[in-house]
Amino acid sequence: MSKPKILVTGGVGFIGSHTVVELYNAGYEPVIIDNLNNSEAFILDRITQITGQKPVFFKGDVCERADLQALLEQHSDIAGVIHFAAYKAVGESVQHPLKYYHNNVSGLVVLLQELQAKGINNLVFSSSCTVYGQPEINPVTENSPVQKAESPYGNTKQICEEILTDTVKVSDTKAIALRYFNPIGAHDSALIGELPLGVPNNLVPFITQTAIGKREKLTIFGSDYNTVDGTCVRDYLHVVDLAIAHVRAIERLLNNESTDKLEIFNLGTGKGSSVKEVVDTFVAETGVNFNFVYGPRRDGDVEQVYADTTKANNVLGWKTQRDLKNMLVTAWEWEKSLSKK
Ligand code: UDP
Repeated sequence: MSKPKILVTGGVGFIGSHTVVELYNAGYEPVIIDNLNNSEAFILDRITQITGQKPVFFKGDVCERADLQALLEQHSDIAGVIHFAAYKAVGESVQHPLKYYHNNVSGLVVLLQELQAKGINNLVFSSSCTVYGQPEINPVTENSPVQKAESPYGNTKQICEEILTDTVKVSDTKAIALRYFNPIGAHDSALIGELPLGVPNNLVPFITQTAIGKREKLTIFGSDYNTVDGTCVRDYLHVVDLAIAHVRAIERLLNNESTDKLEIFNLGTGKGSSVKEVVDTFVAETGVNFNFVYGPRRDGDVEQVYADTTKANNVLGWKTQRDLKNMLVTAWEWEKSLSKK
């Protein structure tokens, strides 16, 4: 007998699609809602190629009550929800704050209301290590102070965590908020991966696009930080490890293992890597050289942040399995497969 149905909002996106695959691997039956604003329908066929299963897909928007109602009417046996659907570009959020507040904040509110109307009480929420800003101490634990957000995007994640805090107090809703560090890499099959719209903002898609010849050169933002080699330090983790953490989190809710109605976990490897180390590792592992230059610091970047993963390891029972080399090699295989598409 297959395990329960899990609604995955934004299930065609980067982290969502990898999570759908891991839900199938664990025996669950995913149901996807995605408006395809920042994702592409061919990913659904790729999920089928990987898993041999055809996910139920609704083209719809979590901000649209009618879309959710129609879906939940048809699938009255959904046991839990993993909520990815949100905008995620920091720079764009500064230019278009209302677009971000509407989609990310209203989307969560409407979703929670409709789930409560149907008595669906289990929600896993995508949060971010941006809530920590530049931490005074690294690695950061879940108890490290949340700092004032640098961007409307970061603020939507903080507000959504607050909405969950208030909601679980007065309802049957139980939630787990996962604070991701820097997810990169792609599925081993190279059939799914990250699909940036336009010029990538993130480091690894920029590297792979430069290596394949789509971009002329990478600019490393800042070389005078107080770090091992002057470039910023982040905690990069493999998207497949991250996807598995979501399966573990929904399982924890379904099995009533939570000790609080809202639990928060940092998801990272616990190890910081500098931008230069990422570049050097990419070149060493793929044998592909590309041009890069050092440029000025990017506004809003923190110097370094990496996770204390003790709570995720001991309480959630999850630990990353893949290293930076594997993250970069799989990201490269994905980029090459895209260029053949
Ligand atoms: N970065 C860079 N050049 C780029 C994109 C990113 O040097 O073209 C650096 C950025 O300054 C940061 C790190 O790579 O130190 C990771 O940035 P990304 O945007 O991927 O993630 P963030 O940590 O900002 O969420």
